[in-house]
Amino acid sequence: MFDALSERLESAWKSLRGQDKISESNVQSALREVRRALLEADVNLEVVKTFVAQVREQALGAQVIAGVTPDQQFIKIVNDELVRVMGETNAPLAQAGTPPTIVLMAGLQGTGKTTATAKLALHLRKQNRTTMLVATDVYRPAAVDQLVTLGRQIDVPVFELGTEANPVDIARQGVAQAKTDGIDTVIVDTAGRLQIDPKMMAELADIKQAIQPHEVLLVVDAMTGQEAANLTRTFHDEIGITGAVLTKLDGDSRGGAALSVRQISGQPIKFVGVGEKVEALQPFYPDRMASRILG
Ligand code: GDP
Repeated sequence: MFDALSERLESAWKSLRGQDKISESNVQSALREVRRALLEADVNLEVVKTFVAQVREQALGAQVIAGVTPDQQFIKIVNDELVRVMGETNAPLAQAGTPPTIVLMAGLQGTGKTTATAKLALHLRKQNRTTMLVATDVYRPAAVDQLVTLGRQIDVPVFELGTEANPVDIARQGVAQAKTDGIDTVIVDTAGRLQIDPKMMAELADIKQAIQPHEVLLVVDAMTGQEAANLTRTFHDEIGITGAVLTKLDGDSRGGAALSVRQISGQPIKFVGVGEKVEALQPFYPDRMASRILG
């Protein structure tokens, strides 16, 4: 599935092969291929432009390394720049000095937000951290049930007040309950809509204001492609995110959304979802994602 991408980059490297150094004239076509490859990997156009400009600058300023061919040097520059833009290392989940750590999950419907909420709880439980889930999606009756079922499956308590209560009240009371129960981390699932709408944003902002979370994680479907950029910008401008979870990486997307999310928000991707099962969550590692994007 990464063939087209690898081939593109292969021809980019080829254009530098046999040259004795990276120069203005020979780097142009290599950069063009990188640009195409990233666009094919669904990285947002604006993000691609910025990225390519950065690679260009570094490639032209690069010292010739003895024993390293220009194409190898160029590959390394592209790879290192991808890793750098995506944050270098894994960014762990925030932890409050005084528990509970409060995590707010945000995102569009169908992205895997509710699943990610449960996955995160299981991940923390494996580190002996107690968790509680809070169900504030009162608009889809099945959403509360889904979270309750997932909670039961992973043996984590779920705070819910049905579908008649106000989401802000549910969140506030859920966090209070977690405090009373001496829970380490409380994860608040929120309503997702098919599209971003002002009411959804206002409600999220109200919940955030009410519970003052240590972490606001935007759940982004890796298959969203180009749209991941707009989505991230809107959520970050209106709510302020502290990180993201990139889901459905077990699918055939090339992961370009990772680059867009990071570059647009400046916030790290903290976890990736790699399957439907509750165990299918992994920490995000920029170097692994760079390899995936480069094929
Ligand atoms: P929500 O509407 O954002 O809360 O989305 P859900 O958590 O209900 O997930 C929507 C669908 O995506 C469900 O069928 C999930 O099983 C599926 N899903 C969630 N995360 C992943 C993932 O990482 N990989 C795959 N393949 N499917 C996922």
